[in-house]
Amino acid sequence: MALIEDRDVDDVVRLAVEANQALGAAGQGDLVWGHVSVRDPRGRGFWMKASGLGFEEVDASRMLLLGLDGEVLSGTGSRHIEFPIHGEIYRMRPDVECVVHTHSAAANALASLGVPLRALSHEGVLFTHPDVPRFLRTGGLVKTKDLGVGLATTLGDARACLMPRHGLVAVGESVATGVMAAVLLDKACRVQLAAMAAGEPISWSDEAEAASKRDEIWNPPLLESGWQYLRRKALAAEVAAEPAAIETSPSELEWIGENSGRIRTSLPNGYCVRPPDEACPKPDDCLACSHFFTGGRFLPVHRQQARTIDLLIARAEAEGLAAVANSHRRRGERLKALIRSLEEPTCTATKHPVDRFGDGSHLPGGALRSAGVKAARRTVDGQQVSTPNGASSSR
Ligand SMILES: [Zn+2]
Repeated sequence: MALIEDRDVDDVVRLAVEANQALGAAGQGDLVWGHVSVRDPRGRGFWMKASGLGFEEVDASRMLLLGLDGEVLSGTGSRHIEFPIHGEIYRMRPDVECVVHTHSAAANALASLGVPLRALSHEGVLFTHPDVPRFLRTGGLVKTKDLGVGLATTLGDARACLMPRHGLVAVGESVATGVMAAVLLDKACRVQLAAMAAGEPISWSDEAEAASKRDEIWNPPLLESGWQYLRRKALAAEVAAEPAAIETSPSELEWIGENSGRIRTSLPNGYCVRPPDEACPKPDDCLACSHFFTGGRFLPVHRQQARTIDLLIARAEAEGLAAVANSHRRRGERLKALIRSLEEPTCTATKHPVDRFGDGSHLPGGALRSAGVKAARRTVDGQQVSTPNGASSSR
């Protein structure tokens, strides 16, 4: 897994934004509270969102660079008062590149019972044998250096720590592992709460099984797969929540018509823009001609949206409307990132493209998919893949 030091600052800021959005998509938000940070690749501190924003509201313009003592080195907006959580963990744990703090309701409920966490499901093996540590000094805000040091000390070399009456903190040697640790600890707590509400659990992984499952189920490629899923989920939610991104004003439509000499076909969630009286050159690629379902989303529609947004950027630039162009550009970048993530899934273990359809059709050099390809079932890294002809394969 690439170390943060290998990435440039822009990449790290983008990762920090994605970490926020992934946590939002995973349901880890508590209105505008909770935060995630990523260590700065130049050793200046860490990148963290400004306060007052929910996880899913964060974009690059809302990121702050904080020094380890909380000094704001870059960005605008107020810092979260609990910055010592991050600064002191980064100080004490040179292996950590990502710190997550959430107000997980399940973590609080489980911690209130004063019972050990048990590995009742896959997630639990990451936080048991030994039991997940608990920071007992306060259930209040960790807003001083002293409390930050105390929390970092309690965390020790663990991947997460419960903060009774407050939430949890989770860390990772990458953004993927940090975010996944927070999401999986929350899930482990939820499973145990459900079991304890129904009765008294009598079965959980012992130390040997937990160790083996950590290797088998939560090895780095599979943690990365989980993270990539959360990234895609967040991107898709963001695009879906922004119909205004492709809503064009009458004057914009007129401009597109005049400047492209193309017709605009309204699609359920986008526009097909192509020359009039010309047969669609890519019937497989156009929802107006055929539609196939990939990865749970309509790729052709996303591609049409991206082309429309490109036209809108050109139009805004032609009129000298830089802010409008930038706004379209940001939406376009997010949409294109989603398209890339759907078009080019790669096996995180081998780095080879994933054969989503089971027929090699979309792989580089693969045969062109014929029109009318039926629905292809979703491929999930490391899971069974159902191919269009019903055969199964696994990797
Ligand atoms: Zn907090």
